[in-house]
Amino acid sequence: MPRIPLAIAFFTAVFSLSNLQAQNLCLTSEMVQKAFQTHPDLQLEFQEFNQWIAEHESQFIPGAEANYVIPVVVHVIHDNGMEYISDAQIADALRILNEDFNKLNSDANQVVSSFLSRVGNVGFEFRLAKKDPNGNCTNGITRTQSYLTYNADDKAKSLSFWPRNKYYNVWIVNSIESSGGGIIGGYAYLPGTAPSAATDGIILDNRYTGSIGTADGSNFNARVITHETGHFFGCLHPWGLNACGSGCGDDLVSDVPATSGSCNNCNLSQNTCGNLNNVENFMDYAMCSKMFTAGQASRMNAAINTTSGQRNSLWQSANLIATGTQNGFTQNCAPIADFHAEKTTACTGSALLISDRTTNATPTSWAWTISNGTQTFTSTDQNPYITFTAPGDYNVTLTVGAAGGTNSTTRQKAIRIFDSNFDDQNWIYFDTFNNNPFSYGRWTAPSTPNAPYGWETSSQVFYTWPNSLKVNNNGSPLGKKFTLISPSYDFSALNGNLRMSYRFAFAKRASSSEDLLLISISSNCGQTWTLRKTLTANDLASSGITTSEFIPTSTADWRSDSLTGTMLQPWANRTNVRLKFEFISGGGNHFYLDDINISGPLSIDNEMNPNPAFSLFPNPAQRKVTLTYSQILPNHYSIALFDLSGRELFAWSELTGQQSATPNANELHIPEHIQAGTYLIGLNMNGQQHFQRLILQ
Ligand SMILES: [Zn+2]
Repeated sequence: MPRIPLAIAFFTAVFSLSNLQAQNLCLTSEMVQKAFQTHPDLQLEFQEFNQWIAEHESQFIPGAEANYVIPVVVHVIHDNGMEYISDAQIADALRILNEDFNKLNSDANQVVSSFLSRVGNVGFEFRLAKKDPNGNCTNGITRTQSYLTYNADDKAKSLSFWPRNKYYNVWIVNSIESSGGGIIGGYAYLPGTAPSAATDGIILDNRYTGSIGTADGSNFNARVITHETGHFFGCLHPWGLNACGSGCGDDLVSDVPATSGSCNNCNLSQNTCGNLNNVENFMDYAMCSKMFTAGQASRMNAAINTTSGQRNSLWQSANLIATGTQNGFTQNCAPIADFHAEKTTACTGSALLISDRTTNATPTSWAWTISNGTQTFTSTDQNPYITFTAPGDYNVTLTVGAAGGTNSTTRQKAIRIFDSNFDDQNWIYFDTFNNNPFSYGRWTAPSTPNAPYGWETSSQVFYTWPNSLKVNNNGSPLGKKFTLISPSYDFSALNGNLRMSYRFAFAKRASSSEDLLLISISSNCGQTWTLRKTLTANDLASSGITTSEFIPTSTADWRSDSLTGTMLQPWANRTNVRLKFEFISGGGNHFYLDDINISGPLSIDNEMNPNPAFSLFPNPAQRKVTLTYSQILPNHYSIALFDLSGRELFAWSELTGQQSATPNANELHIPEHIQAGTYLIGLNMNGQQHFQRLILQ
């Protein structure tokens, strides 16, 4: 095998990778084809649209007189991550879009000479709306927290959309679902091809939005908004509705030469399909796009006059007035206070940045109050940096002022500070959520502004009496994340087969329910988490599809699962270990959690052990319970009763040694002073302890 210089090998590898990703730059063709399959009437509507364009296109001289103004709303669907882009980045994207649609882009005159004379001026102007659908003041940007920002598709649009006959809807997300791998910059629906009015518009990966902030500023990334908007107003890829590079198709525009596509390169002399290709066309996939043709400009000017997808409603003068986008309209909106904490859980001694995320106006003053009831911080900085020395739940209040007014928001328990050592000296290895599981030192469910949905104690609904924890999820908005954090566990004495089991009950509301459960682990007060397990709605469903409130009524409605082996082993010798359960709503019903059981000195021999050392009957019991052993007992053994924190409450004496008779059992009497509740019966023999859960009624 010949030796390849390293630099060349590296270059080849990088080129191949980016080439692969570029195949998936835009998902419009795939989404439109999918819409045609599920809604065959849309294909007919698109054919009628193309027919109308063919017959009327010549009437529309682009850029000559009509300068269409189009009201825009940008919906930022975010999970408080990089996709929570700034107003400035959105403004930058619209600047690029407006330059490109008015032949004002600085590279328009750098088009290769063969195509310079064909550069078209579309003549559309995009303006952020200043009035929302209710006539209220807006800056034309909405911000919605949702897990649907990851691998987003049309479902993310359902979280926030404005009527398409009044606004051009643009959604910004973390990432777009890609069945073929690689990164998708965005996708659009051609006029009349959207599966529903509420999905009509374009969706963009935040990294392909503008040239600043999270965008890298490359030609390729910055022009995705231009490309997708071209689709929205009727332009096809120059090769039609197929994939880039798959052959010579037709885009129905006469001055765009046939091509099989410039898939992520910039070969200005590319010649496919028998002619020189317009590589620099915005609707191609080249890295050097800078133009629409005059024919494409005509097609879009015709498209904006069709009823297909209600495109002709957008620019009507009455609509510009209704959306506050008419010439000369000015308005100062009141701000909507919002903030983002760098971490929502941390150790005592941590310094956290809390960032202003006010929307709808640019604030000029900030007043913060951050308090756990005993310790209070105040600040007038925009983005205060707070060092938390005391543990507790901190409420955060932000009041902002802007030219258009003031606004205030308070989030209860916005930040949880845990003791850097132990919060919970009586760690519970087997937890059935009795006795106020959300009391201090036990379970924490950071508040989310999604009441009444989220974690709560579910009294009298349980696998193990008396409670379970429940996510009130029936009817929750899609993509909401409900977080539950465990007490602090000491794993320092645990080695060998570290294991955590749990029980859950869940029902879908429809076969399409897409709820998720994520389980993570941390040994630094939740400052960083390591994801250990993801369970899908199919994994979680322990009962059939239920549209009314799901309440498990028997143990058959529950399932169990565990984390074992290498999933937990790296934490085996650590202290202050916490588990995090994140439930993400996906249209399903309620979720219930019970019986957290961690292997250790007080874990029980539960049902997953095929050969427990002993069993209890009856259970629940009144005052008498019989222990039946699975093996012959040694001469010396002991049996005691423990509470769930591991405290020994009572030990039985005068138990006689050799138990070889049949049945191999002991009948024990529970002392009268032990109240009803959940306990552990412990058997100590041969240097090992075995536990079983006992419910005393
Ligand atoms: Zn495209």
